Amino acid sequence: MVERSDVSRTCSVIGCDKDVERSIAFKKVDDSGLDVGEDSGRKAGLCKEHYREYKKLTKKDRVLENIGR
Ligand SMILES: [Zn+2]
Repeated sequence: MVERSDVSRTCSVIGCDKDVERSIAFKKVDDSGLDVGEDSGRKAGLCKEHYREYKKLTKKDRVLENIGR
């Protein structure tokens, strides 16, 4: 059962309405490649799964930079 009493507490990723686990600067999430829609000027909320994905994506970026290509 999902209650939608507070929109700001659901994941910012489009199509996901799970509970927010972490709040991260919107731009960072946007840059990571996750689809969070338009910049609301606030922090983006990520659920557990998307936060894990976000970390994975940002980690990958860093690895690519280290490779230097
Ligand atoms: Zn999510």
